[in-house]
Amino acid sequence: MLAVYACTPDRSRGRRHPESPAPTRDDFQRDRDRIVHSTAFRRLVYKTQVFLNHEGDLFRTRLTHSIEVAQVARSIARRLRLNEDLTEALALAHDVGHTPFGHAGQDMLDACMRASDPASSGFEHNFQSLRVVDSLEERYGAFDGLNLCFETREGILKHCSRRNAEWLERSEPGGVGHRFIARKQPSLEAQLCNIADEIAYNAHDVDDGVRSGLISFEEVCGVELVSRFRTQALAEHSGLHGRRLLFETMRRMLSAQIYDVIESSEDLIAQSKPQDVDHVRELPRLIRRSPTMEPLHLELKTFLRDRLYRHSQVVQTTDRAKHIVATLFACYVDRPSEMPPSYSDKPRRLRAVADYIAGMTDRFAMREFERLTGTVAFGA
Ligand code: MG
Repeated sequence: MLAVYACTPDRSRGRRHPESPAPTRDDFQRDRDRIVHSTAFRRLVYKTQVFLNHEGDLFRTRLTHSIEVAQVARSIARRLRLNEDLTEALALAHDVGHTPFGHAGQDMLDACMRASDPASSGFEHNFQSLRVVDSLEERYGAFDGLNLCFETREGILKHCSRRNAEWLERSEPGGVGHRFIARKQPSLEAQLCNIADEIAYNAHDVDDGVRSGLISFEEVCGVELVSRFRTQALAEHSGLHGRRLLFETMRRMLSAQIYDVIESSEDLIAQSKPQDVDHVRELPRLIRRSPTMEPLHLELKTFLRDRLYRHSQVVQTTDRAKHIVATLFACYVDRPSEMPPSYSDKPRRLRAVADYIAGMTDRFAMREFERLTGTVAFGA
C-alpha cells in the first residue's frame, strides 16, 4: 500500500506523447523497463565512476554504481511506502547523461562548449540525462527519446541551471524546468534518489579506493563514521581483518545510513503531513539525513574528495582524460564528417558534437582519439 504522498501511475501527469496503457505493467514499471532497454543505459558499463574502466575489472562503473543506488533507494522507498518502481527507474537513469571519464570528461566538455561559443549554455550532465530520455534515444517509430512520464523526467532532472530551466519552460510551460524557477521540490521518490546516490558512492568509493591501493583502510578509519562500524564489526568478529573486515564495516555503515534516512524522513513527513505529491512539491525537502548523521556524512565525503578524488594518480588520469575529450571536441568541430551522419547532419554543430562525445564509452573515446590523432590515449 502506497502512502498518500507517493507518486502513483494513475495520478501521473502523463507522457508528452499519449500512449495506450500496457496490458500487464503500469506506467512507472514501463518507464523503468524502457530505461533498462535503452542504449544509454547499456553504455554505463563502460563509463568511469572514479577509476577508469581499464584500470581494473572490479572497480565500480556507472552501471554497477546505478544498480547500487537502486538497491539503496528501493530499500528506503519500500519502508516509506513510496513508489518503488518509479524510485528504481530514477536510480537506474540518474547517470545516463554522463560523459566518458566521469566528472573530468563533463567539466572539459562544458569548458569546450563555452570556449567555442560564449553564448552557449555549456554542458550539464543532469540536463544531458533528460536530453537522452527526451530526444537522443532512437528506438520508437512515433517519437524521439523514450517518452517517459512527467514524474520520471522530473526526477531525472536533478539539477538545472536557471538558463536551461527557462529554455525548458518555453517549450514546456509548467513542465520539468518549472521547479528550478519557482524553487520547489520534486517528488519524494526523486528526493530519495539524490540521497541514495550519495550513500552508495561514499561506501563504494571507500571500497574501490582501498582496492586501488591509493588509500589504506587504516587511513579511512580516521573518519568517525568508518571507525565506528569497524569497532562494531570487530566486537562481533574478533580478529577479523583485511577485505572481510572492510566489507563488514561497509555493510554496517550502509545500513546505519539507510535507517537514519528512514527515521529522519518519517519524522519530517509526520510533522508536515503532505496530502499528496503536489503538496510535497510545495514543502521543504522531506527526505533527509538526521542532524547527527549529516556531519558524519560530510566528514567522509570530504575525506574522499581530498584523499581519493584529488590523489595525484587519479588527477594524472583525469588530466589525460580531459585532454582526450578536448582533442575529440576540436577534431569533430573542425571535421564534422568524422562523426556518423546522424550527428554531422544536425543543424546545431556544437551541440551535436557534445551529444556525440557525451554518449561515448571510455574505451570508444580512447579508440576515437587514437584513430584521429595516431597517438595512444593512455601510455603505459
Ligand atoms: Mg550517481
